[in-house]
Amino acid sequence: MTRPAVFLDRDDTLIANAELPDEAFSGKWGDLADPAQVRLLPRVDTACLELRRAGFLLVVITNQGSVARGGATIADVEATNARVAELLPDPDRPGSSLLERTYYCPYHPTGVVEPYNVEHPWRKPQPGMILAATSDLSLDLATSWMIGDAERDVEAGQRAGIDPARCIRVGPNGTLPDLAAVAARILRSP
Ligand SMILES: [Mg+2]
Repeated sequence: MTRPAVFLDRDDTLIANAELPDEAFSGKWGDLADPAQVRLLPRVDTACLELRRAGFLLVVITNQGSVARGGATIADVEATNARVAELLPDPDRPGSSLLERTYYCPYHPTGVVEPYNVEHPWRKPQPGMILAATSDLSLDLATSWMIGDAERDVEAGQRAGIDPARCIRVGPNGTLPDLAAVAARILRSP
């Protein structure tokens, strides 16, 4: 049996990034890599709970090129990802997060840290992380959604084969303001 997912970008979709002060960043490339600085954006918790209760698996899909650029380590990224999951506990499954799994891409072609300083099929706007998750978790792309604040998020979803109408950009430059509005759209959808 395959299941529907909502694929979610991390930074500026689930958690604050652009609005953080410079001191919040251990690196200089703008990717948050300090678990202590993780803050959920408004209404992300209730939006995730509504989507999970509606039967969607929530899968985080995040570029973390700061690893390739020397601004963060794999351990930093994994600790930050774990903190995001910890901040979204599932009240229906004690001990579990609303977030099913997090995929991240540490590669960047202009990075300096080997072996991550190369292009990689997981790096959005390429669809590699979505395709890997679809295989790993037996997901149904035809009923899945991709949500993110950047054009590359929307493009990655479309390249994976998700219906363009189900690839939604959120935030100040998006078609919907935040994840709560996205959840309302998804839950209204046939
Ligand atoms: Mg983002």
